[in-house]
Amino acid sequence: MAQWQCVKNCGACCYLNPADRPSLEYFLTPEEMAFYLTLVGEDGWCIHYDQSKRECTIYADRPFFCRVEAEVFLALYGVPPEELNEFAIECCREHITDMYGTDSPESQRFEAAISQS
Ligand code: SF4
Ligand code: SF4
Repeated sequence: MAQWQCVKNCGACCYLNPADRPSLEYFLTPEEMAFYLTLVGEDGWCIHYDQSKRECTIYADRPFFCRVEAEVFLALYGVPPEELNEFAIECCREHITDMYGTDSPESQRFEAAISQS
């Protein structure tokens, strides 16, 4: 069974342009939404995402909605812990294919990583 994991040099979920995430206001409170918007740079990427290194510059202190953790996904999306793995895999697939394409190196690396876990 595939096991979710984040792969290095991806960052697809760090493209925060709200135009590409129409359901945000459904999941976030108005206060959380206001905070989310403070993170969005002019080019749509998170201001804390280093595009040259393809990594989060505040990883240890990243916001709760960036964390793939059971309590976060339960609170945000109503996903029970036993469904977290499958849900997280689908979230990543959606972000990665939207950003880089289905046959992209990023997609291939993600699929290889989760199948080898
Ligand atoms: S889309 Fe998934 S694999 Fe890519 S950076 Fe985000 S959490 Fe990691
Ligand atoms: S805070 Fe970090 S993990 Fe969250 S969107 Fe920004 S760069 Fe990505």
